[in-house]
This record gives sequence, structure tokens and C-alpha cells, in this order.
Amino acid sequence: MTSHLLGSNCENDFSTGALDDLRCLVTGEIIAEVRPLEDDECLPDVPASLSFVKKSRVAKSSITYVAGFMARKVLKSTRNCQNCQNVLLYSDGNVELDVIEARQCQNNNLVKPGSYLCFATNQSSSRLFYLIPRLCHRNNLFAMLKQVILKEVNFTVLNCADHKHIGDLVATLPIRCILYYWCKSVNKILVGKDVKFVKYLSCETNKN
Ligand SMILES: [Zn+2]
Repeated sequence: MTSHLLGSNCENDFSTGALDDLRCLVTGEIIAEVRPLEDDECLPDVPASLSFVKKSRVAKSSITYVAGFMARKVLKSTRNCQNCQNVLLYSDGNVELDVIEARQCQNNNLVKPGSYLCFATNQSSSRLFYLIPRLCHRNNLFAMLKQVILKEVNFTVLNCADHKHIGDLVATLPIRCILYYWCKSVNKILVGKDVKFVKYLSCETNKN
């Protein structure tokens, strides 16, 4: 018998059910006794065209919002180091701030991320949305995604002289955020609460 509530998608579920790997999936931890889903070490090719995917203004603003959240988390961990602030928040004025400005209100301290941080988050997210559905059945998904992202996108330029781990940390955060978002989206489909998917299914059923 498990100690968690049934049907709760508990990340501490170490039973032998289908959700065993949820925690490893989102955190990248390797937990003893959690069985691998599949041993396949080869990494997938990522199409070069992903670097040039056009995004709507809303999508760009949303990515800026996520990048701002990451900057805030990282700067908190470096106690607002001035060098890290310079690297993470320097903007050429080309950052879409619509979502941040719409959500800005007194005392919420939303951070406006810099140009390179937004660029790296954007490039990383395009690849993650392509890769996750194709690799979700593979063992050590988090480590595999990180390996591909670090190969494809240069995060080392975000390191400061005193905090040489910042690039690595920044590379990690979108993987966690997007994996979590992806799991929630799939779960919504599985429980029949994804309105678009339900509509699509009813259209397909009516056709037959
Ligand atoms: Zn620093």
C-alpha cells in the first residue's frame, strides 16, 4: 500500500505504478530502485529550423515572463550580485514586455530580463517542446534534455566571474518549467478536461 492519496500524481510515489518516474522526470534526480523505462543512449537530432521558428507577440511576451521569473530566482541565489544582474538583465531594448507590464502591480517585483537571457530561453523552449513528446518514454529524460540543450544553446556566457554555475542553473530552469507544464497538459488531456482536445475528439467522432 502506498502512503500517498490515490490519483494525486504524488511526486513521492515510489510504488511500482506507472507514475514511478514522475519525480525523476521533473527534477532529474536518479532515485535508487526506480526502474528505467528504456535503455537507449542515442540522442535525437534537432532540426536547424527550430532556431528560426516565428512566434507571436503573446508567445514572445510569455517567454519574457518566464525568463524574468528565472532571473529573479537566480539573482536571489547570488544575493543580487551586481555582475550577475548586469549579465542577466542587460537589454538592447528588443524584449517584449507586454505580459510583465500587464501583470505588474505594486509589490509584485516582476523582473525584466535582459536580451540574451530571453534569447536563450526562447531557443531552449523551442527545442524542449519539440523534444519532450519524442523522448518522454526514455530513461533519465531530464539529463538527456539538458545534454541536448547545452549542446544547442550557449548558456556559459551568462556566467559571472564569481558565480560560474549560473549558466548551468539557467539552462536547468526552463527544462523543469516546461516538463512540469507538459505533464500538467498531458494530465488534463487524460482526465478529459482539455477543452480543445475534447472538441477535436467530438469532431473526429462526428466524421465517422
Ligand atoms: Zn555573480
